[in-house]
Amino acid sequence: MRLFLVLPCYNEQEVLPETAKRLKEKMNALTQSGTIAENSRVLFVNDGSSDKTRELISALHEEDALFQGLNLSRNRGHQNALLAGLMTVRSLCDVCISMDADLQDDINAIDGMLEQFRAGADIVYGVRSDRKKDSFFKRFTARRFYKTMQSMGAETVADHADFRLMSARALEALSTFGEVNLFLRGLVPLVGFRSEVVYYERGERFAGESKYPLGKMLHFATEGITSLSVRPIRTITKLGFLILFVAVAVAVYSLVRYFTGQTVPGWTTIVLSIWAIGGLIMISLGVIGEYIGKIYLETKHRPRYVIESYLKDEADEADLRDPAVGQ
Ligand code: UDP
Ligand code: MG
Repeated sequence: MRLFLVLPCYNEQEVLPETAKRLKEKMNALTQSGTIAENSRVLFVNDGSSDKTRELISALHEEDALFQGLNLSRNRGHQNALLAGLMTVRSLCDVCISMDADLQDDINAIDGMLEQFRAGADIVYGVRSDRKKDSFFKRFTARRFYKTMQSMGAETVADHADFRLMSARALEALSTFGEVNLFLRGLVPLVGFRSEVVYYERGERFAGESKYPLGKMLHFATEGITSLSVRPIRTITKLGFLILFVAVAVAVYSLVRYFTGQTVPGWTTIVLSIWAIGGLIMISLGVIGEYIGKIYLETKHRPRYVIESYLKDEADEADLRDPAVGQ
């Protein structure tokens, strides 16, 4: 069974040497025990890093054929970088596991994942058993995020980041999903097949800084909701009906007042309604705009990533095109 580990790396010079060392030990152990084939590989996807990441990956590849590198033409973000890696290995591997370059995901969970794969699972989600090591803020925002996703009807596995095993046929199925607004965590459950869960404890980043500041996190969350669910649009429609209902009631009320001769200068009411309705309209336009923006991006059929080079074994003939656009 040929295993590929896929790790997106963006400015990870501080962690890469240590990550490579630990992964090499793990992969060697797995090969020796006969769990995986000799030609299993670790693929680092360099997501347009501006530090020494690129050079480090090249050096690792030179030193040991275990390590392969994939250079994107520029920074495209975590999800796109990961997808580029997955799509590159999909025809080369029997099974692949994606994880972060900072090894916050416990690499010893790999054994459990492979076991589930051998038992017939096509997708195995790595799920964090607790969040003790996270800051209060991260814990809180993450909780809210998964709760919101759930209430919006988007199917995600709670506390599962992108630490995940996928079989070759699951990858093949994923390649037929052509969306530009990528949210892999929500997409993979839609692929279907038999899936299992493996629990692990998530560690701390051992060096370097998080590449997900608050702004990026918020963006990621909105992306997740709007690319998977149309519920916000429906909520607006419902809100519209509710307001219509209230408006009818107000009309009846004011007509009655008018005919009984009790009209008073209704300045307050008018001003308040203008503001309230104005606000609602603005929110609605914003939400609708969000979706129109998405449609706009999807209709462009832009490639989600562009690969500059692939550092690999001679025998590996990967298809480097973005399957969504085929160019
Ligand atoms: N990453 C990437 N491109 C980006 C941002 C992040 O490929 O534009 C990678 C990063 O190198 C890491 C993974 O995404 O392997 C997760 O990032 P990080 O560990 O900083 O996120 P956190 O664990 O803090 O949520
Ligand atoms: Mg991390």
